[in-house]
This record gives sequence, structure tokens and C-alpha cells, in this order.
Amino acid sequence: MTEAFLQYVWQHQLLDGGLTTTDGQPVAVLRAGELNTDAGPDFFGARVRIGGVEWAGNVEVHIHTSDWNAHGHSSDAAYNNVVLHVVYDHDCEVRLQDGRTPSTLELKRFLHPSLIASYDRLMRPSEGGVVPCGSDVASVPQFVVKSFMDRLAVERVAAKTEAVKRLLEESRGGWEQTCYWLMARYFGGKINALPFELLAKSTDQRLLARWKDNPQRVEALLMGQAGLLEGYFEDEYPRMLQNDYEAIRTGASLRPIGGHLWRYYCIRPSSFPTIRISQFAHLVSASSNLFSTLLAMTDVKEMVKLFDQKASAYWDNHYRFDTVAAKTTEKNVGKMQAQLLIINAWVPLLFLYGVMQGNQAYKEQAMDLLMQLPAEDNNVIRRWQAVGLEPANAAESQALLQLDGAYCRNSRCLECSIGFQILKHK
Ligand code: SF4
Repeated sequence: MTEAFLQYVWQHQLLDGGLTTTDGQPVAVLRAGELNTDAGPDFFGARVRIGGVEWAGNVEVHIHTSDWNAHGHSSDAAYNNVVLHVVYDHDCEVRLQDGRTPSTLELKRFLHPSLIASYDRLMRPSEGGVVPCGSDVASVPQFVVKSFMDRLAVERVAAKTEAVKRLLEESRGGWEQTCYWLMARYFGGKINALPFELLAKSTDQRLLARWKDNPQRVEALLMGQAGLLEGYFEDEYPRMLQNDYEAIRTGASLRPIGGHLWRYYCIRPSSFPTIRISQFAHLVSASSNLFSTLLAMTDVKEMVKLFDQKASAYWDNHYRFDTVAAKTTEKNVGKMQAQLLIINAWVPLLFLYGVMQGNQAYKEQAMDLLMQLPAEDNNVIRRWQAVGLEPANAAESQALLQLDGAYCRNSRCLECSIGFQILKHK
């Protein structure tokens, strides 16, 4: 039993039977009051009729009546306006600071056992990734789930804008630079996000823009700055990149990041930093003003096409310099990866742009992009599908990821619309 649950029960009046105080007076709740999350009584502005007399004031909720004394309320005048003390277990009599005895409602007499059982089930730590409310989700009305998912999708995008804000501050409000850094970060995937971001920060966008019509030079500049062109190479291609990099370097003050920062383990060869840097070089060459380019696009297919860049031909049969791969395949970013870049990088950036510009249209455009993209497929989404929640698009899969990460994993069932429906109907 927790105080948060008892507050929830009181707030939503999930009570059974005719209520009476501990001294037998009938209780009618006319208004539960406003939940107060700051100091002072738990509910302000309640209205209750006790034994035929109507009272207006505050309500305090505790697990045991004796918590009143333990929390020091008997000497606190701020609690003198408590008209009802709501407790789970009445274990003693208490007094207000002014000497009166507050009326007490003992909840355990009015809580249906199935409500407590449902609450227990929701609060049980999830085992083996099973959704705690999995067996009840199907009974929740679709319109409730749908409107909650709409809210969760926006919540998820808004949460992601926090990381974007930090980059925006660092770039002193430069949207193009923020976009370039952010895209670089996401090109690195989970494993190489940081070195990719460092690479972008160490390589001035204006310098890259100078070579925008020459993808090989852009690749040379990025590979060189990545610290991947140091040493001797057998193949002509890396030697060409080395020469290009040295030529660019002569006229600019460039300091490569350490080549040792890149990670190759736990990732598929097609996502090796060498391949990703080459693809990123082609993206930068395709658009030196990526932010403005993306801002002008409304068609998600066009965006996917822009992100789905192919690495240089050398990488068709290489994953690393000087090592020939067993198979020859063109190394595109891939449609799915391009969609993830839009979901995880562009959508939060566009949403934040809408927030900062005070322009609702950009925020709506960001959410609309998610609705145009297919739902993601990963372990979390599969768990929701197993209990009957099938996301129709990326907005809904993002909503389910938010639900899992921000609510289910933190046992926030009392703040969840699905949880409310489950508890309400017990
Ligand atoms: S947070 Fe909501 S969806 Fe998640 S387990 Fe609790 S009730 Fe279910």
C-alpha cells in the first residue's frame, strides 16, 4: 500500500459501498478536491457531507492514522482546515493543532479486493519484459488508447528536444550547425554517436560547403578529421584521400579527432564508421544547407531519398581500408535507417524549431512526418504487439516506446490512461 495509490483512490473516488467515518457518520463526497503536490494537505477545496453537515476544506491522506502525528501535523496550523482524514488503516485517534479531532474515513473497509489485486499486479516488477498490464490492455477502449498514444507521441518528441536544445545552445542558436551536428550524431548510431558528433564539431561546415560539388574531397576531409587516414595504405583510394586531405589541411587549421575513438565491435560491418562517414560525406555534398533543405521538404519520401545516400564505390567491396570484402554490395544508408534518422533526429529538431519560433505549424509538421512513416520494429514494439497494441505508424510506435520507457518501467501506472481504465473497472 502506498500513499500515492490512496490519493489516487480518493481523487478518482474508486470506493465501494456507503461510506462512513470511523465513528459511524455517513459520508457523501461532493467534491474530492484538487490534488496538492506541494507542502500542506493533500487535497485542497474538498466538499464533504458528514452526518448531514456539509463541510468545505482540505483532505489529508495517510496509510495509517498515526502518520498524522509522525508527520508533525498535530502541531501544524496549516492542517487545521482538514475536514476529513482519509486513511487506509485507522490505528489511533489524532488531533488538529487547535485541539479538535478530525473526522476519519478508513479506506480499507471501502476498497474492493479486486482493485487492490489489480494495483498489485500493475506494480509488480515486469518479468522477462512482459507488460505488467498485458492481460488487461485488450479490455481498454480503443479511443482511450488512441488519445493517450497521441499525447505520448508528442511527449516523446518533446523529451527528445532536450538533447537538441543543448546542441542549439552550443551552436549559439545556429540551426544549420545544430542540424549538421545532430545528423552526424545519429549517423554514428548508438556505438559511434559521440565520435561522429566530435567529428562534425571538428570539421567546419563552411569548409565542407566549399567542396560540396566534390564528394571525394568531402570524404577526404571527414575521413582525415576522423583520424582514419593516418599511416601507410596499399590501396590507391585511401592514398588519394590522404593527398586530398593534406591539400585541404594546408590552407586550414584542422585537428583530427583520434582514430582510436571509433568502435567496430558489436556493429554490423555495413555500419562501420568508415562506411557511415562516406555516406555522411555524400549527404553533406548533396546539401550543404541541410536544415533549410529539410525545412522546405514536406514529402517524407523525398526526405528518405535524401538520407539514403550511397557510400563511395570503393566501399562496395571494402569495410575497412586495404581489406577486400568477400562480397561486393553497394553500401546505401538504407530506407529503414533513413526513416530512423527522420524519426530520431529531424522530427525533434523541427519540433523544437516550432517551439522556439512560436510556430505551431512546424510542430504539427513534425508530428505529421511521424504519421507518414511506418511503425518501427524492435523488441519493445513486439512486446506491445503481443498484447494487442499494433502501432499503425511511427507516431504510434514512438508513443509505445514512450509508454514503455517513461511509464511502465517506472511503475507510473497511476499516471497512465490505460492504468486508469484498468483500475476504474475493477
Ligand atoms: S504504465 Fe500503463 S501501460 Fe504500463 S504497465 Fe502501467 S498501466 Fe500498463
